[in-house]
Parts: sequence; C-alpha cells; structure tokens
Amino acid sequence: MDNARFFDHLQQGCQALKVGLSEDVPSKLLRLMQELLKWNAKVNLTAITAPEEVLEKHFLDSLAVLPEVEGAASLLDLGAGAGFPGLPLKLARPELAVTLVDAVGKKVGFLKAAIAALGLKQARGLHARAEGKPEAEGIPRAEVLIARAFMDLPGWLELAPAYLLPEGRVVAMLGKAWPEAELRARASERGLRLVSARQYQLPFSGAERQVAVFSKA
Ligand code: SAH
Repeated sequence: MDNARFFDHLQQGCQALKVGLSEDVPSKLLRLMQELLKWNAKVNLTAITAPEEVLEKHFLDSLAVLPEVEGAASLLDLGAGAGFPGLPLKLARPELAVTLVDAVGKKVGFLKAAIAALGLKQARGLHARAEGKPEAEGIPRAEVLIARAFMDLPGWLELAPAYLLPEGRVVAMLGKAWPEAELRARASERGLRLVSARQYQLPFSGAERQVAVFSKA
C-alpha cells in the first residue's frame, strides 16, 4: 500500500466511523504503521501483516473508541501487544498520558521504540504482568482502563478496577455484542455500573464490534 492509499483509506475509514483527526495525525499514524511493519518482519508482534488489514483491524478499530476515552487525562492499556488501542489513541489525542503494559519483553521493546521514533511525550511502554496489584507491579493507576483481545469480559471486569483512579472508568472492547442486560449483570457482579454500550462496524470488512464503559457503582 503506498502512502496516498494509506491516507485515502484512513480518511474513508474515519469518516465511516465518524472520527475526526487533526491535520497532523494521519502522517503520524503512517509513521507508526511503517515502524510496526518494519519490526513485524523481524519479530512476530501481530498475526495481521497485510497493510490494508493492519489499517482496519488495528488502527481504525483503535480510533473507533475515541469517544469512550474523550476527556480523560490518563489511559492505561493492559496487554497492549503491539500498541493497540493505546498508540493510535495517543497519536489522536496527544494530551492524553498513556501507559502501555505487556508481559512479553519483545512487545515492550517495540512499544518503546515506536514511542521514541514518534517523539511521544507522556507515553510509556512498561514490561509487567498485570495481576491486580498495581503498586507491587509498578503499574500506575489511570482515569481510563482499556484493553483489547486481552481477557474475556468477566475477567477484565475483575482485574481492571484495581488500576482505576477515583472517578475513573473501565472500557471493554468486545468482539461480539453482548445484550445490555448481560453487560449490566456482569457489571453488578463486580460492584460496577454500565455507563454506555455502543456497537459499531469496521468500515471495510463490516466486522461487528462493541465497546462498553463501566464505572464504580
Ligand atoms: N491489545 C493488543 C494485543 C492483544 S494480545 C491488540 O488488541 O492487538 C494480548 C496481549 O496481552 C499479549 O501481547 C500478551 O503478551 C499480553 N498479556 C497477556 N497476559 C498479560 C498480563 N497478565 N499482563 C500484561 N500483559 C499480558
């Protein structure tokens, strides 16, 4: 995919998702994509390697949840892998302080290299295993907890609240849509409250996604 095609697809995808990006963001996303593809040729970071698919399944799917993180000062992405959704969200919202945590060293190696290559401030890759003890693990708390393809929903709602700052929220990115009653039931089991749930489709493949937000009850 040449650069013009990347910008074109990104613009089409964002339009379909109703996501607005500042003028300088697309070129930063392109730089991230180039860094990812370069690393992925040597180190296996993500199973998705075709640029079109990386753009849709990683970049656009990450940007799709911008409304759910809007207004927060800090974001903690647990099990960030190659940086999704945390890195595209950071590029789209430079004022957001982002910590990306992964238990696998080579992934954190990439996260740190990408952060340096993009010159990002208030962004950090952290090699740690999240098990619900932030102080012992050296993982900072945040206003918004997010993860994608990390745990099933019940596991995520059990783990994530330990890392929340007061008044914070937990965002769950879900592959298959849950009925709202189910989301409410899972939340109340953990003393949480469902704040919002929204379904969206990836713009090119039409793949279904859901994003749900929870807060302490
Ligand atoms: N969020 C990324 C990666 C998902 S794969 C994406 O959506 O593309 C899940 C990632 O979680 C893997 O990189 C794995 O190394 C990491 N992981 C699994 N258990 C973990 C734990 N307890 N703490 C931190 N990272 C963990």
